[in-house]
Amino acid sequence: MLSWLRSFSASLFSSEENESTPYLHYVLFFQAGISAVELYLDWRQRKCYELKHIPKELEKQVKPEKFQQAQKYGKDKNTFSMVSELIQTGVHMTLFATYSLPRLWNYCSQIIEKYSFVNILPAELQTTLLYSSVLFLGSKLISLPFSIYNTFVLEQKYGFNKTTGKLFVRDIVTGTLISAVIGYPSLIGLWYVLELSGPKLWLYFWLFTSSLSILLALIYPPLIMPLFNKFQPLQDEKLRHEIEELAMQVGFPLNKIYVMDGSKRTSHSNAFMYGIWKKGIVLYDSLLEQNKDHNERILAVLAHEMGHWKMRHTQKMLVIGLLHSLVLSWSYGKIANNDSMYRSFGFDTKAHIIGLLLFSELLTPLDSVLSLIMNFISRRFEYSADEYAKNMGYSPFLIEALTTLHLENLSTMHPDPLYSLYHNSHPTLTERIHALEKNNLETKKNQ
Ligand SMILES: [Zn+2]
Repeated sequence: MLSWLRSFSASLFSSEENESTPYLHYVLFFQAGISAVELYLDWRQRKCYELKHIPKELEKQVKPEKFQQAQKYGKDKNTFSMVSELIQTGVHMTLFATYSLPRLWNYCSQIIEKYSFVNILPAELQTTLLYSSVLFLGSKLISLPFSIYNTFVLEQKYGFNKTTGKLFVRDIVTGTLISAVIGYPSLIGLWYVLELSGPKLWLYFWLFTSSLSILLALIYPPLIMPLFNKFQPLQDEKLRHEIEELAMQVGFPLNKIYVMDGSKRTSHSNAFMYGIWKKGIVLYDSLLEQNKDHNERILAVLAHEMGHWKMRHTQKMLVIGLLHSLVLSWSYGKIANNDSMYRSFGFDTKAHIIGLLLFSELLTPLDSVLSLIMNFISRRFEYSADEYAKNMGYSPFLIEALTTLHLENLSTMHPDPLYSLYHNSHPTLTERIHALEKNNLETKKNQ
């Protein structure tokens, strides 16, 4: 088994012809393995939802009814996630194991040969656009029943859902149109980059995908989010003044403060910042509602966010992301022309989009490991942003704000350590309270 894995990994990224490399089996094997690990973690977390006692750190703040409700909500979400994971992975693996994707590609290219819709574009590119549209709509159709159940049954049951049927349909239509408006030009651009770049494929591929993702991150808040939500300047004069003062104190380049009607869809609450040089702050209306007459809690949350800004966490994540995509682009350059990869999955043509699709499948195990590392880094960043807010004297208010947020969202009271390590980009509530209180004690000792 080990020697098989060793010879396999050696041949995986070689550009030489290697008939015996079982790429498809490798993908099926690892996908089943990852699914099994994730189901095991779900099952571990499930047992935590059966615990009857409130965790020590939360005993004072949490009423027994709220605790029981959070445990029930968590368990229901857990069942939903296990069932949907099983079905969706099953469908995904079946598509590969039955060679349905190469068959679909052949159908699409026959249709293009017959009808050639846009004559100015090469046939492979036209097939790529048709094939991607069918895959995109197909995956939307498969996830639709899960999304309906989650919104209108599960979230509804616990009073979180505020979405109407009409709004739900409107969101799907808007989302699909935006995907088309952004997706088609991006695909066309990408296809020409891959077609024309020759031996330096990895470099041009990297430059193109990196600039595209930076561009999308920049246009998302000002251009796309307003299509879904209304943004209004913060009306509360007192709070606005306090936020401006906080920004001045830390030298934060505050632009505008908006309130977003997040409550239109859900009563889960949040706050975020956007912009490169001048920063806008967006507060969910539900966050303001939940912390009415407790401005200091909202300021504590913003002090934490400003900590992220001060310590350049977004830029650091961006650099890590660019390095990651550089490594991926280089690996893709190595494997893009490997005939045996295409053959192993049942494709008899070598189209760019197929190469990318198969490459992303081969990366699944690596992605799981990388997301573990990214979660670890993100958790470090969260702790240091908390410490930043604490150093400004917001520690008790941040604890209050985090606890309120946690209770209002009925978040997990007893997180399983392994589940949390794998899935969470933020430390758990009790871990954060621990760290904030520990720091408090140390500050007192030092005073
Ligand atoms: Zn944070």
